[in-house]
Amino acid sequence: MTTSPLIIEKIPVLATVDVLVVGGGSAGCCAALAAAGEGAGPVWLVERYGFLGGTSTQMLDTFYGFFTPGTEPRKVVGGVPDRVVNALDAAGAVFLRPNTYGAGTGVNYNPERLKLVWDELLLAAGVQVLLHATLVGADYDPSGRISGVVISTKRGFFRIAARRFIDASGDADLCHLAGVAYEKAGEDEPAQTLTTTFRMSNVDLLSYEAAGGKKLLMQRMADAVDRGTHALPRKSGSLHEMNARGCISTVAVRVGDLDATDFEQLTAAEQEGRRQAFAYELFFRDCVPGFTEASIIGLSHQIGVRETRRVFGEYRLTKADCLSVARFDDRVLLCGAPIEDHRATKDGGEETVWGYVPGGQAYDVPYRTLVPRGRDELWVAGRCFSATHDAHASCRSMAQTMAMGQAAGTAAALSLAADCDARAVPVPALQSRLRSRGAVLETPATVAATGRNDWRANHP
Ligand SMILES: Cc1cc2nc3c(=O)[nH]c(=O)nc-3n(C[C@H](O)[C@H](O)[C@H](O)COP(=O)(O)OP(=O)(O)OC[C@H]3O[C@@H](n4cnc5c(N)ncnc54)[C@H](O)[C@@H]3O)c2cc1C
Repeated sequence: MTTSPLIIEKIPVLATVDVLVVGGGSAGCCAALAAAGEGAGPVWLVERYGFLGGTSTQMLDTFYGFFTPGTEPRKVVGGVPDRVVNALDAAGAVFLRPNTYGAGTGVNYNPERLKLVWDELLLAAGVQVLLHATLVGADYDPSGRISGVVISTKRGFFRIAARRFIDASGDADLCHLAGVAYEKAGEDEPAQTLTTTFRMSNVDLLSYEAAGGKKLLMQRMADAVDRGTHALPRKSGSLHEMNARGCISTVAVRVGDLDATDFEQLTAAEQEGRRQAFAYELFFRDCVPGFTEASIIGLSHQIGVRETRRVFGEYRLTKADCLSVARFDDRVLLCGAPIEDHRATKDGGEETVWGYVPGGQAYDVPYRTLVPRGRDELWVAGRCFSATHDAHASCRSMAQTMAMGQAAGTAAALSLAADCDARAVPVPALQSRLRSRGAVLETPATVAATGRNDWRANHP
C-alpha cells in the first residue's frame, strides 16, 4: 500500500466507513445527506473549518441556479437542495431576489442561520461530521484504487478507511492526492478572479435606491477609478440587500492572476482582498448616498475562490453543451444559468464575459461528469467536477453544486447496495431514485413563482 504524500506508517485508524465525503460545502453536505438518505452507512464527512457550508456560509448569501433566467423562469433544481431552503424558510431566513437577467432569480438567505441548518440536517440524517479535520493524504493500492484517507487534526493524524469516496473539497484535494488527472484553472484560459466579499451595516437602502441605486453606483465607481480618488480594483461590482435590516453584502473585490492552490500566492491574495475591501468602505462612505454612516461588519471567512482543479471525468461538460442545450441520457441535474466568466483585465474595463443558454432553457448535466475518468470508488461533486473552463463558469451556482452532491451521494449509496463500481451504477435506477426524492430531471412546463416571498408557492 502507498501513502501519499505523507510517508507515515503508524497513523491510527479512526474508523472504517461506507462513504467518506471530503469537504462540507454545498456539494459535500448534499452528497452526505443523499447517501445517508439512501441507507448507506456509516457516512462520514470531513471538513477543515469549524462550520459547514463552504462558500455558501464562508462568503455568500444567495443561491443561484434554482430558477432559469428570463421572463418565464422555471425551477430546475429540487430534492435535497429544496430541503435546505425549506429549513431556512421555516426560520424566516429566506427571500427571493427576482431578476430577469444575470443568473436569474436568487434565493437570499441568512448565512449564519445556514451554518445551523447544515448542522441540523446532517445530524438528523445520522452523518458523522468531523470539523477541524483536514484531508492531507490518501491510501491507495497498486492499481490506484483509494482505500482510505489521512486527516490532520489537533490530536494528530488519523486514517479513515472507506469503501466509497466523494471528493467535494472544491479544490479536488483527494483526487490530487490520489493521482487523478485534472486541469488547473489558468492553464489554458485565464482563471476566474478571486473575491473577498464584505458586509456593511447601517446602510440607508431607501436613500440609496432613491438616489439611483445600481445605476448610480456604477457611475460613481467609474468616476472614482477614472479620477483616481479611491484605490478600487475595477469600475464595476455589485451590492445587495441582506437578510438583516440595513445590511448589504458585496461582490466587488477582485484579485486575479494567481494559483489558488498555492498557499504563498493565496496569502498575498487574502491580504490584497482585505486591502481592497476597506478601500471600498471608504469609497462607499465618500461617494454613495445612503452609506455615510455605514461600516464593514464582516469579511468573508476566506477569499472566495471560483475555480482551481477541474477533474477529467468520464465526460467533460463543454461550452457547446451549455449553449446548444445538450441532452444526455444519463442526466442527473439541469442547469439554465448563463456562462458568467469573471476575467481579470488590466484596464478596469468590462471583466465579466456572459454567454446565455438560449431561450431561457436548461441543459442536462451527465452523470459521467461526476465520475473521474477510469475510477470505480470515487466521485467528484461541486466546483471540481469535470467541465471545461467555460462550462464550469455556467454550472457552478450553488443550486447546481447541491444537485451534483445529491447525485453523487445517491450514486455512491446505489453502488454499495448493488455492489457495483461508480462506472457501473445503473443510470435508470439512479435517475429513478433522484426523481423520487424530488430532483428535477425534466424542465417543468409550469412557470415558477419568483416574487420576493414566493419560495413556498413553488412547493404547494
Ligand atoms: C466570490 C464568489 C461569488 C459567488 N457567487 C455566487 C452566488 O452569488 N450564488 C451562487 O449560487 N454561486 C456563487 N458562486 C459559486 C458557488 O458559490 C460555488 O461554485 C459553490 O459554492 C462551490 O461549492 P462546493 O461545495 O463545490 O465547494 P466549496 O463551497 O468550496 O466547499 C468545499 C469545502 O471543502 C472544504 N475543504 C477544502 N479542502 C479540504 C481539505 N483538504 N480537507 C477538508 N476539507 C476541505 C472547504 O473548507 C469547504 O467547506 C460564487 C463563488 C465565489 C467564489
